[in-house]
Amino acid sequence: MTQTADAVVIGTGVIGAAVAYELAQTGLRVVSVDRLGGVGLGSTSSSASIVRFHYSTFEGVAAAWEAKFSWENWPEYLGRRPEESLARFVKSGCVILDGSTQRERVLPLFDHVGVPYECWDAETIRRRVPGMDPGRYAPPKPVTDDAFWEDADGELGAYYTPDAGFIDDPQLTARNLMAAAERRGTEVQLREQVVAILQQNGRVQGVQLGSGGVIHSPVVVNVAGPYSGRVNDLAGVTGEFRIRTRPLRQEVHSVPAPADYARGELGPAVTDGDLGTYFRSHFGGQLIVGSAEPECDALHWIDDPDDFEAQPTAQAWDAQVLRLARRIPSLSIPPRPVGYAALYDVADDWIPVYDRTSLAGFYVAIGTSGNQFKNAPIAGRFMAALVHACENGHDHDSDPVRYRGHFTGNEINLGHYSRLRQPHAESAGNVMG
Ligand SMILES: Cc1cc2nc3c(=O)[nH]c(=O)nc-3n(C[C@H](O)[C@H](O)[C@H](O)COP(=O)(O)OP(=O)(O)OC[C@H]3O[C@@H](n4cnc5c(N)ncnc54)[C@H](O)[C@@H]3O)c2cc1C
Repeated sequence: MTQTADAVVIGTGVIGAAVAYELAQTGLRVVSVDRLGGVGLGSTSSSASIVRFHYSTFEGVAAAWEAKFSWENWPEYLGRRPEESLARFVKSGCVILDGSTQRERVLPLFDHVGVPYECWDAETIRRRVPGMDPGRYAPPKPVTDDAFWEDADGELGAYYTPDAGFIDDPQLTARNLMAAAERRGTEVQLREQVVAILQQNGRVQGVQLGSGGVIHSPVVVNVAGPYSGRVNDLAGVTGEFRIRTRPLRQEVHSVPAPADYARGELGPAVTDGDLGTYFRSHFGGQLIVGSAEPECDALHWIDDPDDFEAQPTAQAWDAQVLRLARRIPSLSIPPRPVGYAALYDVADDWIPVYDRTSLAGFYVAIGTSGNQFKNAPIAGRFMAALVHACENGHDHDSDPVRYRGHFTGNEINLGHYSRLRQPHAESAGNVMG
């Protein structure tokens, strides 16, 4: 079958669905394609979906803060139908323990962008998050190292952002966005894999599908998550990228929250660079815990995103859950690993690539590095602004498009996300971005 569109979006994860929605809002006829059988079934479905604002660059903080207003006004943002079930933003706050970020770098960015925060000492941590031990154990160590079991050598402070939290259902979030896109005319094609990017005279012409179908389109956007590098290969643009993307395997584990933790209520999200984890409360009395990629742990880069161990391993379980148990001493640890593994699409500097390419009409929203779920609404808007500017002849590479936030008025230079940038030296170099 041959059809035509104004834009093809490859991938229906949370970023792909947001890109489709925002392009459709500008009047384009969008076709969204995904190789899987449902919307949001890729890495999005495994997301911890924490909404936080501590990033190491102005653009990182400003983007996350701007996106927060769409999460707060989710039904309005989507133009929802009354019968629709919607994902919810649970504002549980976020505690960033000392040793997690460079506080002297992040707090001035908060002041600049307008993110409210509180500075806590160890006593405040104990009072505000009962059950959490503010002991200082840094640097993070392997749990097989005797030094891991040594007593704390001091106490931590923290900063706290009351507006942070998490989205209760990441996959539903992608479905909400795609339903909104469909209401604006987007067509979704599932179980369809893009196998070729059609091009002529340096300009994209559309995509070819594994089923044999062809979609002619002057605009194609690669939002393929951990498959982003493969889709760039199909387009023949990989060589020009100074920032490469690679799949990284990560585990997330789930343990029952102790009855005394956070007074039995939903606790805040916590970034614990002191021990090398992040964690948050979840419904049903659970805590979920992931890795903050401490230097002492090896990273599991994956060559083939279709071939990785999806079950949790005893090694990662021990590392993450024992670190969590140091922070929450009353934690009881189930006898067997509970959790899953999934893939990040990691950019060299852990900052995404939202950009055009030298193949006219071929765009990328990739390298989301385990930290862009929260930015989906603004990533969609970035891409819509970029596509329209470039398709109208603007040279984004030499004169980067600037985006002014609808809600905050903050101006974000989209050159920050360029594929041609030098890696951002100020990045945390891990999932914190
Ligand atoms: C374990 C984990 C925890 C995370 N926690 C957080 C968090 O707490 N906070 C936060 O902000 N972010 C977090 N993230 C990151 C965030 O979830 C991701 O950045 C985001 O979900 C990526 O969405 P996406 O649409 O780019 O990719 P995906 O959801 O992976 O979607 C890509 C889609 O492209 C499709 N596709 C690929 N190739 C093709 C092809 N050739 N043809 C057709 N379809 C194709 C795939 O099937 C897939 O559905 C986390 C990620 C993971 C994995």
